[in-house]
Amino acid sequence: MKSDIAIIGGGIIGCAAAYFLATKGADSVTVIEPDATYAKASTPAGAGGVRRLMSRPENIRMSQFSLDFFADFAETMATDDNPADIAFRRQGYLFLTNADGVDALTLNFETQAAEGVPAELLDVDALRARFPSIGTDNVAMACHSPEDGWIDPHAALMGFRKKAQNLGVEFLKDKVISLDVSPTAVTGAGLESGQRLEAECFINVAGAWVSEIAAMTGAKLPVVPMCRVQHFWHCAHDIEPLPLVKDDSGAFFRPEGDGFAGGRPSWEIEPGFNWDVDRGYFATYFEDTVWELLANMVPKFETIKLERTWAGHYAQNMLDGNMIIGRYSDGHENLLTACGFSGHGIMHAPAVGRALSELVLHGRYETIDLTQMEFDRVLRNEPYAEIGIK
Ligand SMILES: Cc1cc2nc3c(=O)[nH]c(=O)nc-3n(C[C@H](O)[C@H](O)[C@H](O)COP(=O)(O)OP(=O)(O)OC[C@H]3O[C@@H](n4cnc5c(N)ncnc54)[C@H](O)[C@@H]3O)c2cc1C
Repeated sequence: MKSDIAIIGGGIIGCAAAYFLATKGADSVTVIEPDATYAKASTPAGAGGVRRLMSRPENIRMSQFSLDFFADFAETMATDDNPADIAFRRQGYLFLTNADGVDALTLNFETQAAEGVPAELLDVDALRARFPSIGTDNVAMACHSPEDGWIDPHAALMGFRKKAQNLGVEFLKDKVISLDVSPTAVTGAGLESGQRLEAECFINVAGAWVSEIAAMTGAKLPVVPMCRVQHFWHCAHDIEPLPLVKDDSGAFFRPEGDGFAGGRPSWEIEPGFNWDVDRGYFATYFEDTVWELLANMVPKFETIKLERTWAGHYAQNMLDGNMIIGRYSDGHENLLTACGFSGHGIMHAPAVGRALSELVLHGRYETIDLTQMEFDRVLRNEPYAEIGIK
């Protein structure tokens, strides 16, 4: 089999890249994805938050592009068999910080303001007046970004996938198990089915599995799977409409249907895949750790009914928690990646899909300059992390 461009991994990043490549006239694009149900992929497990409350200008700019893109998603991405309704709710983001985080929150606010983000800093009185249900015992300052929000990540993934198919992208239900290399390039992908796909260009966007693919050309990416459990709960008390709320501990929640969804990254456990939330460390994680953090944020959460817990995985960049984009495998100029998104891959998918299409078709960034986020910083050991609440 032959294709001009082979995309390894059909999550939201792979499908967004496929969509932009097809839109810009790439002739032959193939996405290799073993599981069309996406049972273990990160995308459907994500909270779908889309925010510009970030510290690095590149991340703010990517979120800005994505917000605009998601706002028009149904219009742009609908196909005959898919209305592409991503349930975009522009209900805002609210970051809460204690005294230790005030400087970082203020610095980030200034960067965001310079990027044109309509956010505002709230002192404790203003916070109480605006959101009476938010607990203020541990809060010294808040930042509210009323026009950010969240989407249904699975719907967005399927929107990109179906539109890409509609534009002629091939989806192979298969798994890459090896990559063939010449002295200067990757020439083909060996597939679990026994077939081989040759291509001019390969894009490794296998999410939490990206380092397994990298190892196939002898490359090393500092990206590991990190288990992230999420919870859904009901609260019988009346609570005003809230934005997505996040604090310094990393705990967050947002309204979801008639309840709330959220959790807290478990930075303290070893990286690796973990699907069993009923045993071991995660069996009592909500009761032991998450619940108290949530009740700090909203005291009415002291009485809630936990309905469901599920596992997903961050693809965590151990250098700095930020994305790595572009070439990464020594001597293999035609092999690109976009990986290591931690909790930002959904909000950045449209911008990253577009950036990958620019790199493939033009050899450079034509819109947002993402040079700072390339693999070179890993080689130089120069972290480019988010500052403050991540
Ligand atoms: C609990 C949780 C909450 C999150 N909340 C948010 C949020 O609010 N906002 C946000 O922006 N992000 C959030 N994220 C992060 C976001 O979900 C991810 O960054 C994003 O989904 C990454 O997309 P992806 O396409 O890189 O990976 P995935 O969706 O995991 O897709 C990778 C695909 O590669 C495929 N693959 C693996 N191995 C191979 C192989 N050998 N050959 C071919 N294909 C292969 C897999 O089957 C998979 O479908 C959250 C994540 C989690 C876990």
